Order: sequence, then structure tokens, then C-alpha cells
Amino acid sequence: MKRFLLCLTALLFLLPAIVFSEENPNPEMELGGNLFLINRDHPIGKDYYPHDLVEPRVLGGGEATRMRPEAAAALEEMFDAAKEEGLFLAAVSGYRSYGQQASIFDRKLQKVDRQTAQRTVAPPGCSEHQLGLAMDLGTKKEIRLTAAFGETPEGQWVAANAHRFGFIIRYKAEWEEITGYAFEPWHIRYVGKDHARNIFNWDIPLEEYIDRQLSPYVVAEDEGENTQ
Ligand SMILES: [Zn+2]
Repeated sequence: MKRFLLCLTALLFLLPAIVFSEENPNPEMELGGNLFLINRDHPIGKDYYPHDLVEPRVLGGGEATRMRPEAAAALEEMFDAAKEEGLFLAAVSGYRSYGQQASIFDRKLQKVDRQTAQRTVAPPGCSEHQLGLAMDLGTKKEIRLTAAFGETPEGQWVAANAHRFGFIIRYKAEWEEITGYAFEPWHIRYVGKDHARNIFNWDIPLEEYIDRQLSPYVVAEDEGENTQ
């Protein structure tokens, strides 16, 4: 009897923990979900590897531009829509492993000081390319990744339309304090159409959007541009 009571007491204590741990406010924010946040404050382990990577069938597509299937399909849709307007985007860099990112970061460190390197290149584990949800874009004529992409007709089209296909411009100049990165008009991140539309309308960085998702005060989607 005593043993039974002990077990019962233990169960009563454990039950809330079991129940609440199964509650997930937004599975999309979990690793593997479209809203998973990576930045310098939220690094990812070197072992994370998305096993479902595919090569998008787009200009420049291949081994170096692999993405997760949902993102790759959205990228194809976006490239086709741009093409219909006479604009030719090129895929430059998609999935990158922790090891590849470490090499890129080390190469940068050989050229510039650590502070400058950190502003422009993500340290290993801090790049969302490791998620298979990010793509660096160029054009048919120019695949070097520079701010000049933002001035091209293709870059301007991407800034105005990427959200229609589920992508966001991840690093804007005015968000540098929050994202920790300088302006990268060529870097797009897949989050899915609904979130991309909200983020575009509210014109906020992913960090702030995630905060709002976690907030107990849910912001209605139709509040749109009037919110803040
Ligand atoms: Zn990038």
C-alpha cells in the first residue's frame, strides 16, 4: 500500500511535466520546421543534416544549390515567374554543411579581422544554409554575391515578390543590429507562403517574427501593415 501511494505521488508530480512537454506552441519553430531560427545567438550542432535535400531544377541548380523539397519547389516556381517577366535568376549557393561553412569562415579570417568576418560571414553552426532552407541568388549574367544584386532588375523583383513564393529577404540593412549581418539582398530564406507574407507586410526580421509567434498576444494576420 505504501509503495502504491509512493508511485501515485510520483505520478502526480510527473504528470504535468509529461503533458506540458508534449504541448508544442508551434512545431514550425522546431528543428526541421520552416521557422527554425539560426543566428549567432542560436547556433546549430555540427551534426544537423537535412536528409531530404534535392537539387532545384533552375538555372545554376546542382549539388551546391540543394534545398529541402518544399523550398526547392518554391524556388522553381519563383524562377519561372521571374522568367515570364523576362528576368533570369541564377541559383548560386544552397545547402552548406557545418564543415563547408567553417572553411568559408576561415578563408575570410585570413583576409580581414574577426569583427569584419563575423559581420559578413556566418561562423560554422550559425548559417541557415545548413538548414537547406536558404539560397544565395545571382543573375544569368552575374553570380558574384555583392550588394549590386539588389540594384539589378532581378534583385528588385526578388525584393518585391519573393514572399509570394514563401521566401523572405533575411538580412536588410536596417535590421543589422538585430540579425547581426550586413545587407545581403541575394540571400533568401524559405519560411512558407503565409509566414513570408506576414513578414513582408510587417517588414520585420525573422527574429522579431519568432518573438511574436512566441508571444501570448497573438497578432491577427489581417492587421497587416498597420501593425507597428
Ligand atoms: Zn546566404
